[in-house]
Amino acid sequence: MNKTLDRTTTQVSEEELAAHLESAQVPALIMLTAHVTGDASVLRDDWRPNLRALPSSGLDAETEAAARARCFELLAPFLPTQNTWDSVPSEELRLAMSTWLMGAPVEDALAMSEVAFIPNNTDPRQPEWKLDEIAPDTALNAVVIGAGFSGLLAGLRLKQAGVPFKIIEKSHDVGGTWWENTYPDCRTDVRSHIYTYSFTQHDWETHFGRQDKIHGYLHQFAADNGLLEHMVYGTEVTATRWNEDTNSWTLETKTAQGVGETIEATVVVSAVGQLNRPSIPNLEGIDSFKGPIVHSAQWDHSIDFTGKKVVVVGTGASALQFAPAVAKVAEQVTIFQRSAPWLRSTPVLRQEIADGERWLLNNLNQYRAYYRFSIFLPRVVGNLPAATVDPSFPPTEVSVSAANEALRKELTEYLLEQAGDDAELAKQIIPNYPPAAKRIICDDGTWVKTLKRENVRLVSQGVNRIDETGVWLGDEHIEADVILLGTGFKASDFLLPMSVAGIGGKDLHETWGIDASAYLGSTLPGFPNFFCMYGPNTNTVIHGNLVFFLECQAVYMIDAIKTLATGGYKSMNLRDDVFAEYDKEIVAESAKRTWGWSKTHSWYMNAEGRSTIMWPLPARNYFERTTQVRTEDYKLG
Ligand code: NAP
Repeated sequence: MNKTLDRTTTQVSEEELAAHLESAQVPALIMLTAHVTGDASVLRDDWRPNLRALPSSGLDAETEAAARARCFELLAPFLPTQNTWDSVPSEELRLAMSTWLMGAPVEDALAMSEVAFIPNNTDPRQPEWKLDEIAPDTALNAVVIGAGFSGLLAGLRLKQAGVPFKIIEKSHDVGGTWWENTYPDCRTDVRSHIYTYSFTQHDWETHFGRQDKIHGYLHQFAADNGLLEHMVYGTEVTATRWNEDTNSWTLETKTAQGVGETIEATVVVSAVGQLNRPSIPNLEGIDSFKGPIVHSAQWDHSIDFTGKKVVVVGTGASALQFAPAVAKVAEQVTIFQRSAPWLRSTPVLRQEIADGERWLLNNLNQYRAYYRFSIFLPRVVGNLPAATVDPSFPPTEVSVSAANEALRKELTEYLLEQAGDDAELAKQIIPNYPPAAKRIICDDGTWVKTLKRENVRLVSQGVNRIDETGVWLGDEHIEADVILLGTGFKASDFLLPMSVAGIGGKDLHETWGIDASAYLGSTLPGFPNFFCMYGPNTNTVIHGNLVFFLECQAVYMIDAIKTLATGGYKSMNLRDDVFAEYDKEIVAESAKRTWGWSKTHSWYMNAEGRSTIMWPLPARNYFERTTQVRTEDYKLG
């Protein structure tokens, strides 16, 4: 396992820099040079990167060579002092760099650059207070439910603030989804350097982290930060109940052996994730099938697919990873596609980071921060206009605005290129809904190559019926030894199956019905001192970054605890009117976006067509609203 990076203190000689210069991503090198030398003349218009190519520049080789040479010339004299370089660029330079990178002054850029540019070894958003200093006599304590990406982060913030806490985890290790999903070729489709806590960077081997490596990273993070001693593994929280007499939550837990325990906590942080309850479709005859039926999140590693006849149901992000691996060894793979996924060309999806580039990331001071900045900023400023309905366009079921249509054309071209001269296949793989109505999946050509294999058949419809030996497609019987379900998760069933009873015994799931909603994805009226991480409406399609959103939620949660502690309050309960106003805004904004407009199936929508998953506004809006708790939003008591 790679060790989480500590500090960059290595001396870099001119010769070493010259030797690795070719591997440097030019945008990162240019911004680093401007920062270190103070010479912003390198932020030239003709050296501005193509946003779609980042972290590469997308410039021609000659222009890149000129940029590299000039950066080297300017940077070389500063190398001997690299360990003393200022770690944070001035506000003026940040603005200049953000504007240069994005190609125009972007309203979001400055605010975002403060959180985007995280120099090595710094954690600017950690709490700057300690519970025993601000409230020595308080009885505050917390339980975090879940030890995935969000639960570990919540745990760290509680630890930093000196709030006593436990993390209760149903599995026997940390990692959440990255512990549970072990299907072949499972990896993130978010670039590794932003699928990492901003303040704990890592020496990733690949551009897109593999499941085992991400799990390793999270385990190391927990170990390095002393979180493992707070873990209660193999234990599920079955119920949690607010006691008005004691202003605390009572949590009922159960181990796999059925052993129960009751825990009291003044604060509950639910970090149970969205993608952990497999959705098993209720297909006719599914129970009659004699062979194994395996969901992607419950992979059965004892099955050898060599020479097997396999049916795959679903063509989402999971199936697009496991089906190609299975197709390499199976005799026959039949893939049932209900709707085709949009694919984004991502040639480095399965590639390792070149040695020279890794060397720079690990040795040249601040290069990593600029590398990350060049990925993070465009992603978080995002492209919400391309997912926004323009009533005058006029919107249709295939595109909703000029920007959305431009994106549709770009993605369609990629699919056509992939299909080549196979017109039938082209028809099957081009989606009939607007891009960004559901997740756009990163692709390096593997998917269509798989579909073109002799032993693979793509069927553009759902499964009619299953019997003992296979699947029916109209009158045709397709024999199967194994059925693989890439059918996703019950993402809209937030917090199930745990029961949550708030003030007066109010049941959370009855309150929600199927319309889960929480203020900023975090709090709800009637459920004091209860905070969600990765709660309703905190996902993004093409306008954010999951880990960044989690970091925002952790800032909000820990600021709320500070509010309780400094005011000597026992409870904070969201005001009904604040929640109602917020909820109205989210519903109205969601309806303007592709995922709220389109009638296509997706886990972004619940059974009644409400989007409980996506944040419908710019990421900056979320960042600003979660930076600090507005005490006037709450009834404090
Ligand atoms: P998903 O995106 O919800 O895809 C489920 C697939 O199953 C869809 O193709 C869906 O068709 C199909 N399906 C569902 N019920 C069906 C039924 N009854 N009959 C026929 N087809 C059915 O699930 P997923 O692929 O597991 O991905 C879920 C999410 O997990 C992703 O969006 C992503 O956020 C995350 N994930 C990420 C990665 C990554 O980072 N690379 C990898 C895996 C998962 P419709 O589209 O028509 O509904």
